[in-house]
Amino acid sequence: MSNIDPKWGDWSTAPSPISDEEIKSRLNCDVLVLGAGISGVTCALRAAQKGLHVMVMEKGARWSARGGNIGVAGSKYMKSLGYENDINALAREWIKRCGNRCREDIVQLYFKKSSEAMDWLLDIVTAPEYNARPELQACIYRGETYRENMGSHRFFDGPMAKKGMRPGASDAVYAMYTESLRLGVEYLFNCPACQLVKENERVVGAVGSGEDGYVEVLANRGVVIATGDISGNDEMCADLAPNANKCPKIYFPVGQNTGDGHRLGLWAGGAFEDGPFPLMLHPQAHFFANFCFLFVDGKGRRFMNEDNYIQGKCNALLSRNMTYAWSIIDAGWREKIPATFPYGGGIFWDFDHGPNQEFKPEEFENMLNRGLESGKAVCAETLEELAEKIGVSKETFAETVRRYNDNVANGCDEDFGKRPELLIGLDKPPYYALKFGPAVLAIVGGLKVDDRMNVLDENGERIDGLFAIGNAAGGRYGVDYPMVIPGNSHGTALTFGYLLGGYLAE
Ligand SMILES: Cc1cc2nc3c(=O)[nH]c(=O)nc-3n(C[C@H](O)[C@H](O)[C@H](O)COP(=O)(O)OP(=O)(O)OC[C@H]3O[C@@H](n4cnc5c(N)ncnc54)[C@H](O)[C@@H]3O)c2cc1C
Repeated sequence: MSNIDPKWGDWSTAPSPISDEEIKSRLNCDVLVLGAGISGVTCALRAAQKGLHVMVMEKGARWSARGGNIGVAGSKYMKSLGYENDINALAREWIKRCGNRCREDIVQLYFKKSSEAMDWLLDIVTAPEYNARPELQACIYRGETYRENMGSHRFFDGPMAKKGMRPGASDAVYAMYTESLRLGVEYLFNCPACQLVKENERVVGAVGSGEDGYVEVLANRGVVIATGDISGNDEMCADLAPNANKCPKIYFPVGQNTGDGHRLGLWAGGAFEDGPFPLMLHPQAHFFANFCFLFVDGKGRRFMNEDNYIQGKCNALLSRNMTYAWSIIDAGWREKIPATFPYGGGIFWDFDHGPNQEFKPEEFENMLNRGLESGKAVCAETLEELAEKIGVSKETFAETVRRYNDNVANGCDEDFGKRPELLIGLDKPPYYALKFGPAVLAIVGGLKVDDRMNVLDENGERIDGLFAIGNAAGGRYGVDYPMVIPGNSHGTALTFGYLLGGYLAE
């Protein structure tokens, strides 16, 4: 059985091999990591701590990071605040939400080992030199159906946050990177890996395209693919994650996540997990917050139960081929929004509001004003005028709002079954429409790996010397991005990078 589907496009065809004569320099190490994102830098540091000589090839001019939350199942910091998760219950929930298509042994590893990885990271990031302050992301969906659990860690006030980067992953990666330099890890920047080197059946190194020509790095313990996801490569998406091409993609640095490692692994005999690969979807390309009142489609019709977590809402749009919808609120939002928090919530619904924090109306008001200025939100005194501004039929929209308000008055959502606690009417002008739509943060599918992160071929056999972590690795999700603990794409990248760094030294 071939690991390459004949229906795939040209991207799946291996290029001609780079000849020995073309190689300008040759280097040796124990472990070669491809990619200096969160998974790669974690793995490099951990392997170096275990005494290995590590080299890292990175396509960009520096390490990379984005986003705020690193989700793990527990940590000493969480414990100090009185939070502890039932990891078996969370693992069961995760597996269920992934339609039982994830690899349970890998999911178990994440739930059992992510606290150890986070404790290790906390020691690094909170050390006096970096002095980042941990916090738990408190906005989580609190209803039963899509319950999100505490565990999403953020780091504030570290050196990168002080430079204006988003507090979170950047300080984690910066601190790990700096520590790894001290332990002798060598980084080859502006050097995309473009070919794996195989001897007999073992992967023994990689060739990168450096500024001075091709460089070959041989690694006696293994080569680690940590090159991130495929969302920057439209052709790969068309074959492996077609829905991704229907939404804006917001990864940065733009052009660095083109699935290079996926292809290298494939050409070396590795197999992909079954597609389509799952998408991690958030709404940042449109208005930031969206809530759970009334959503209407491009025709002004209601189309879903708005009581849903963020990934679910995004999926609901995508499955209807909608790039955006409108979330309707009214001038009563100061009371109506916080009234929903005990029942639902989560990022982009109650943003940074937490159990012990007051909802800060002025923060939302600022967001709303920015939205009105940019066109991501519109406001009108009447429903007719609002319909006109969002380009839907006045009659249809008026009927939708009337029907919605009737359901509210009756305390029963006869159309989509929203819980009565969240049936809150829209009756206080002016009215607002907030533009809501999915954006791809990451495509979280990749090469088949086993519980040692060893890349597998189509028959499930290990490819000696080749490993994959982060979004280059499959098995973690299978069908969807479950926000059982928010921030788990970083959390799994951290955990498996940490574990693999240790495994390679054994
Ligand atoms: C705006 C935004 C916000 C996000 N926020 C969050 C969040 O809060 N929580 C969360 O869990 N997730 C978040 N994500 C998703 C998260 O960033 C990724 O899932 C995560 O970075 C994956 O880590 P990784 O190590 O697999 O890949 P990356 O972090 O993407 O790192 C891969 C690295 O490999 C390099 N590379 C690529 N090709 C090659 C090559 N051929 N040779 C050498 N190097 C190569 C890239 O340049 C890059 O530096 C966010 C994503 C976006 C876009």
